[in-house]
Amino acid sequence: MTAKIIDGKEIAHKVRKNIAKEVEILKAKKITPGLAVILVGNNQASRAYVTMKEKACKELGMYSLLLEYPEDLGQDELLSKIEELNQDKSIHGILVQLPLPKQINEMAVIEAISPEKDVDGFHPINIGRMMTGQDAFYPCTPYGIMVMLEHIGYDVAGKHAVIVGRSNIVGKPSGQLFLNKNATVTYCHSRTTDLAYHTKQADILVAAVGIRNLITAEHVKPGAVVIDVGMNRDDEGKLCGDVDFDAVKNIASYITPVPKGVGPMTITMLLFNTLKSAKKIHEKELQALNC
Ligand code: NAD
Repeated sequence: MTAKIIDGKEIAHKVRKNIAKEVEILKAKKITPGLAVILVGNNQASRAYVTMKEKACKELGMYSLLLEYPEDLGQDELLSKIEELNQDKSIHGILVQLPLPKQINEMAVIEAISPEKDVDGFHPINIGRMMTGQDAFYPCTPYGIMVMLEHIGYDVAGKHAVIVGRSNIVGKPSGQLFLNKNATVTYCHSRTTDLAYHTKQADILVAAVGIRNLITAEHVKPGAVVIDVGMNRDDEGKLCGDVDFDAVKNIASYITPVPKGVGPMTITMLLFNTLKSAKKIHEKELQALNC
């Protein structure tokens, strides 16, 4: 069997086209969805992500505000900037690029963002809403995975989803979104004994660890759908995932590549959440205009 490639770039392009159309409609009603991105320090990877987010935002006609601060920024200063953005009517989404320098408590920062503008979906209120099946901002990477599966027409209900990784931003919320869609979910992590035993039972296998080639052919059930979230560098410095792509593609039914897999979907869902926030914040005005 040779797996079909799930082309994240192509799916992201389709979703972005629809977002752009909606942005145009909102702009005709004098509402421009706005995303504020805060970057603290000089982490090169963070800077690259922020640049990609800013570019994507502008391409879709959204307003993008980038706020950059030095590595030694104090926590209070950051919290008061977030409060200003919470009140700013031109901003519908606030994102603080992680990781933050040591002197800043990440959870305090996440909790300072208004849940109504938390387009990353990391605030405990949004996590709680997601867990209880309510409308919420879903974390962008897990949400992107669900949208990809929808695009290939794969119904996860009744399927066994095995998630490798239990971070708050990818692993845990991915499992929750699968559960919300009636999958049976198993989590594996750094303390799991016999990883392959669990992963071999997966109808859908999500790898979100950050270890190159962690998932080999021996970890995969024939016909499984394999989603590779990992972003690592190979010996030549090329981007690669957690899955041994060349071996696993001969066993899986579907597989996401790295790059051009989950990555483009993550940014797309951030833009989707920003648009959703703008529509929600201006709900009354929009309803009045439609009357
Ligand atoms: P993290 O470091 O916060 O979490 C890694 C998880 O892997 C932990 O829960 C840990 O328990 C688990 N783990 C570690 N070693 C393991 C092992 N040997 N076996 C099984 N599980 C093990 O990382 P994260 O933020 O969740 O990101 C995971 C990967 O996904 C990274 O490579 C990251 O760069 C990538 N990522 C990609 C995107 C994207 O858009 N494509 C978005 C976010 C993260």
